[in-house]
Amino acid sequence: MADFISIRYVGERLMQCKDLPDALLLDVIQDAERYATLRDVHDGLADRIGPVPWNLVLAKLRGLIARGLVDGCACGCAGGFTVVAPDALVNAA
Ligand SMILES: [Zn+2]
Repeated sequence: MADFISIRYVGERLMQCKDLPDALLLDVIQDAERYATLRDVHDGLADRIGPVPWNLVLAKLRGLIARGLVDGCACGCAGGFTVVAPDALVNAA
């Protein structure tokens, strides 16, 4: 289980959604067998780039859902995230 952190710095500023590439999130979600839970996404990101704050993971997921790239619920529940159109990965990268 990945460590919980509430903030992370990139250089001298706080990490933001733009520091998390869309393609990275989509890749992490697709690594799950059927759908990714919020913890799957959080821990998958931690494995790849180190711990990412929960609130930032949620904000990023909300953005991807709003843009139609990801299906699921980013209210803080289990989530059930899936990539809507895996073929769109190239366009989203
Ligand atoms: Zn929810």
